[in-house]
Amino acid sequence: MTIQLSKRTEKIPESVFTAMSRLAIENKAVNLGQGFPDFNGPDWLIEEVYKAMKEGKNQYAPSIGILTLRKNISALYKSIYDIDWSYDNEVIITMGATEALYSSIHSVVDEGDEVIIFEPFYDSYMYDVLLAGGIPKLITLHKPDFSFDFEEFENAITNKTKVIILNNPQNPTGKVYTKKELDFISDIAIKNDLIIISDEVYEFLTYDNVNHIPISTIPGMKERTITISSAGKTFGFTGWKIGWACANKDFIRGIHSVRQWTTFAVNTPCQHAVAFGLTKIMEYLPDFRKLYLQKRDFIIQELKDSLFSPIIPLGSYFIMVNIPENKNDMELAIELVKDYKVATIPPSVFYSNSDEGKSMLRLCFAKQDETLKNGIKNLKAYKL
Ligand code: PMP
Ligand code: GLN
Repeated sequence: MTIQLSKRTEKIPESVFTAMSRLAIENKAVNLGQGFPDFNGPDWLIEEVYKAMKEGKNQYAPSIGILTLRKNISALYKSIYDIDWSYDNEVIITMGATEALYSSIHSVVDEGDEVIIFEPFYDSYMYDVLLAGGIPKLITLHKPDFSFDFEEFENAITNKTKVIILNNPQNPTGKVYTKKELDFISDIAIKNDLIIISDEVYEFLTYDNVNHIPISTIPGMKERTITISSAGKTFGFTGWKIGWACANKDFIRGIHSVRQWTTFAVNTPCQHAVAFGLTKIMEYLPDFRKLYLQKRDFIIQELKDSLFSPIIPLGSYFIMVNIPENKNDMELAIELVKDYKVATIPPSVFYSNSDEGKSMLRLCFAKQDETLKNGIKNLKAYKL
């Protein structure tokens, strides 16, 4: 039989993260590519999953998510950002931020709607929009500070524009949007009656006294913003896949409509554990932030006498490095993983308009010190 996949599906390439992690395993290379910690999150939280399982919390959760987790998310955001999300109908628990993104995009984007995406982008935005039949409109974040041209942004808005996707702090650049940038984006969104999907999975990973500002807290933005986050990042358990979205109840209704036919409900015991984790988050966060700051500073320091010059990130657990001139990110990433035993991510796959990605590689520093040391040693072995 000739198997003919749908035209939509045929357009979707394999994710670069899957491809690079496979190459890392095949080549026995140190993996500084795909973004996940290679160390465990807190033991006390693992105990909570076990406890929930032993207590019989093993059947389907309510489709919208368990009540205590929705309550604790709502309370957390009230206490840290002074924003009110009703746990009743403005919070939904999802299978990681990935499902929140997929369901949000599918619930608001119609065939032919234009969606503004900043590049380099987190790859799922592009493919979620394409799968929904939307038209991505790319705005480039330019090196070295990954700022964007306000005029270009304003000119990209047409009468077909419906959504702006924001990722703050940003993967892969580590950019944290300034208040001025957020105010500008907000002004445009309000003026043109646009929806913002704001992916804030790295909300607790900012450095150098830079504060995270959820765009939903800017006046006029709460009603038009779907804010997404993930316990995978905050507690370092990416495999648990517990994420959420907070938004006006009509958006949550839309997200829920999609999710009924994708996952229906999310892993019950892990939801209970994360609900408990959020009650301890204020004690937990200082050490978590300190750990990642140390790792960021360590990798910056170690890269200094290599051919890869770091672009200092103010957020996330990624760092972009400039590669030697005349080198191409894709070819170099393959050479590095095969011959130098270190996996990285070639960021040109996160661009559609600009060539800037070809001059950089993305490294993930959510790794044990030993992994970082070995990875950097291998990077330093690379000579022209
Ligand atoms: N958004 C961004 C910006 C990410 O970096 C990631 C994963 N690293 C996700 C969403 C997906 O999050 P999750 O693993 O919770 O699905
Ligand atoms: N978000 C992770 C990264 O940026 C990868 C997650 C995935 O592979 N889906 O590396």
